[in-house]
Amino acid sequence: MKKYLLIAAALLLLFTLTVCGLTACDNTSAPVDTGSDATAAPTEAPTELPTEEEPTVFETDLVTEAPTEEITTEAPTEEATTEEITTEAVTETPEAGMDHGIVRDGTPKKYITIRMDDGITQDARMMEIMKKYGVDCCTFYINTGLFGANWAWVGQSFNRPDVTHIRYTRKELASGIYNGFDVECHTLTHPSLKNYTEKQVTNEVKRDAQNIEKIFGYEPIGLAWPGGDTEWNEQNIKTILETTNIRYGSCTTRNTAKGLGKFSLPQYFMTWYPTCSFSDADSLTLLNEFIAADCTEDMLFYVWGHGYELDIFNTWEKFDTMIKTIAEAAAADDSIVLVTNAEFYQLFKDEIPAWKE
Ligand SMILES: [Zn+2]
Repeated sequence: MKKYLLIAAALLLLFTLTVCGLTACDNTSAPVDTGSDATAAPTEAPTELPTEEEPTVFETDLVTEAPTEEITTEAPTEEATTEEITTEAVTETPEAGMDHGIVRDGTPKKYITIRMDDGITQDARMMEIMKKYGVDCCTFYINTGLFGANWAWVGQSFNRPDVTHIRYTRKELASGIYNGFDVECHTLTHPSLKNYTEKQVTNEVKRDAQNIEKIFGYEPIGLAWPGGDTEWNEQNIKTILETTNIRYGSCTTRNTAKGLGKFSLPQYFMTWYPTCSFSDADSLTLLNEFIAADCTEDMLFYVWGHGYELDIFNTWEKFDTMIKTIAEAAAADDSIVLVTNAEFYQLFKDEIPAWKE
């Protein structure tokens, strides 16, 4: 009799393990978006140069590896569960942009911030130049669902097949190449979010944030909208605010094109319009104008771009000049403060709303 009981118990145990195992497996592999929809989506890769035209739609041979599962295990499904996880995460890891030691002293300042998108190999050369001048106010936006992806079509679209657009692998990211700079979200797979369901949007943003937290040890608080300002909508903003901890969204349209002052602070953090693109013909002129301006209220010079643009347009010299100019201006003028995008957010989050109430 005992023997039969033992056999029955063993069978029950086996059954339980099998079912639980399968369930766990389903959970981890469930809502991973491989980005198949994303392949047809436009990206902001070819930048809104002087004209802010929507970039051409290119054929892409996107994602090669199914990347997220390597490091993200929890499926972002049940709100209650993720809420708990989030709370824990906040207590365990610091938010991005908190360790800068910059405080506002009540006097107006001129803030300078830089942003580079996509997490591609040209970033290393940019960081070398910035380190040479002691400038660290740059935020890099990465897609953790596209580790190692080679977007050869970007160079080809400019008739420059020699110019690469290759994202860092997870191993490279974890090796400390971005140490001293800030890394934030650019979504998992760089899709056109406006065409995604709320669940897909949450997945794209939340998982990218989770992956960044795991690799870099801090919780990202901002994203750069993938594909530029034609590819997101107000519903995306609401979804992201409701379901993730992302609290600012970096845009591509110049703030003057939105009726804002060229050196104005953002009106809403989720629609944070920059001063200019690095590749704009007048970006150095604008920087010099900013440096020379009287500082009677808080002002912001915000320049954005991608590393590959410097190869395409042969503007490495220009980048060197821009960084040198920033370094010299900051050294000569106490009112000039260099901040990453996340640091600027942390300094102003209490007075600039994330979005319209
Ligand atoms: Zn991008």
